[in-house]
Amino acid sequence: MRPARKVQNESTKNDPVIGQLPAACADEKLAVEFMEQQRWGDHPACPSCGSESVYQMMDSKDPSKRQANFRWRCKEKECHSQFTVRIGTVFEDSRIPLRHWAFGFWRAATSKKGVSALEIHRQTGLSYKSCLFMLHRIRCAMDETDIEPLNGTVEMDEVYIGGKPRKVHKTLYKTIKKEKAAVVGILERGGRVRPKVVADVTAKSLKQILEQNVDKSARVMTDEASSYRGLRKAGWNHESVTHSQWEYVRGDVHTNGIEGFFGMLKRGLNGIYHSVSKKHLHRYLSEFQFRHNNNELADGQRVIAAIKAAQGKRLTYAQQVGE
Ligand SMILES: [Zn+2]
Repeated sequence: MRPARKVQNESTKNDPVIGQLPAACADEKLAVEFMEQQRWGDHPACPSCGSESVYQMMDSKDPSKRQANFRWRCKEKECHSQFTVRIGTVFEDSRIPLRHWAFGFWRAATSKKGVSALEIHRQTGLSYKSCLFMLHRIRCAMDETDIEPLNGTVEMDEVYIGGKPRKVHKTLYKTIKKEKAAVVGILERGGRVRPKVVADVTAKSLKQILEQNVDKSARVMTDEASSYRGLRKAGWNHESVTHSQWEYVRGDVHTNGIEGFFGMLKRGLNGIYHSVSKKHLHRYLSEFQFRHNNNELADGQRVIAAIKAAQGKRLTYAQQVGE
């Protein structure tokens, strides 16, 4: 079992990474060097052959300056590959300057409720569309690959997201209701959270999600919804509180943790993102999940974790259009 996590109240004032970010977000060379340091540390290596025998290419007219695209070159005779810090990441085939990527990663990794494309657009001067693309790619980087089962005491709940215009004509109501997406969340107390977009919240689906994501030895806490009945019979150590009878906590049985996560998610999606299509909801979930699961890190370390997670993840144009 994983040890429970502690949230550190570490001051960001003395955080060396946060200290470097304002300069890196304003100057392309500093941004490139910042990304190189975060991705490679002191050991840049050729992505083709793995050799550490590599050098920075210099400007042909002014050899005191780095080459315009900040390329590196491999010294190995058989290889001679050229590469940049973008290679093999979510920003590889983007023309957006790295200083704006640094800003996007910074804001997305450290803003509790997330950051909107509009805000990035205002701060960087990039087109709104470019900002949408960039943020989707950052969310793709944040998509967790951890599949280790959740353990200990886990809370499970579901929530409906999207489609809530103020004035709705009666005839439209049914269609709009269908547009809402169901999200099931499982939270390991003092640990990780795993939110999932689901087609339905039937007993069968919920049981399947438990089986795929939670260790059978865990204590499972839910509300009294009928979909959770039968979990004991299926061998789960299941306890529930009866919200309909104003029972929210009984001893240590409650679902306050996952409800808190959903509260943050809803405030973020309503306030910052306004409306999120069903198609892209999973990306926003990745973002909120990433911040929760890395909340023990200081802000700067969380930015680095997101940048490092950008490695090996790609998002094609077709996957990322729209919000
Ligand atoms: Zn090489």
